Amino acid sequence: MNTPASHPFCAVAVRQRLTFPKRAAFLLAALLALPATAQRAGPREGTIDASGLAVAFDENHACPPIASPFASPTRYDNSRRPIDRFGGRHGGIDLSLKEGTPLLAVADGEAIAGGEGGLMEGIYLWLRHAPQDSGLPFWTFTKYQHLSAPPDLKPGTRVKAGQPVGLSGATGTAGKHYGTAGYPHLHLTTFYGPSGEYEIKGLSGSMVSARGAQLDDPLILYLKDIRELSEVRALPEARRTVRPGIVLDSGEIIPPNGRTVWPVACRHK
Ligand SMILES: [Zn+2]
Repeated sequence: MNTPASHPFCAVAVRQRLTFPKRAAFLLAALLALPATAQRAGPREGTIDASGLAVAFDENHACPPIASPFASPTRYDNSRRPIDRFGGRHGGIDLSLKEGTPLLAVADGEAIAGGEGGLMEGIYLWLRHAPQDSGLPFWTFTKYQHLSAPPDLKPGTRVKAGQPVGLSGATGTAGKHYGTAGYPHLHLTTFYGPSGEYEIKGLSGSMVSARGAQLDDPLILYLKDIRELSEVRALPEARRTVRPGIVLDSGEIIPPNGRTVWPVACRHK
């Protein structure tokens, strides 16, 4: 992923909502000789704000946890994220994984793009999930990053919830903060929107710009009975912990009728 300034997708389709502290925003505005209002595209735009959601798994199963949540200002190792990317906030969730860990489709859907992106992106796969696939009342676009090898799935291939769709890796993470070894993990990004329409954008063709879609917390995938995205941040405390469906190494899905599942297999404790 790139900075908003250098990337048309981030600047236009992601419609980031800036979360700079006010002082930093003023300083930046002054430096750029722009009015402060130019830093904000509109209400709820320009920031990545925490959803308030948390995840829990049942006590009998161990699942790879979130190492860095959505909107977190820190990486898995508690270091601060650079402010020039998404205002220093995390645009997805990270799961620390051994290289070669199978990555699973979070819901039924369709592969729409895959390939090799740049630094901080690595080898990626995009899936698209219709409302009837996920049980959610909107379309979902999921991007899996840092895969160890190009995905086998051709655009247009249907996938089932829990199906392995690629292998985790550390591509795109070496250099800068993570050093030469990189950081083996899954970065999962999700966009939610009213339409299944999208365009492929970005210098390496790695950006899917879905019409009217908004970047938001992947944990929204696991909410039950929501009618629209705007409800997420108004949920009562009791509904803010999501309990994803899980896939065991055997391929068994729990619960068996689960529409959306955790992106990596879990094991019996
Ligand atoms: Zn990440």
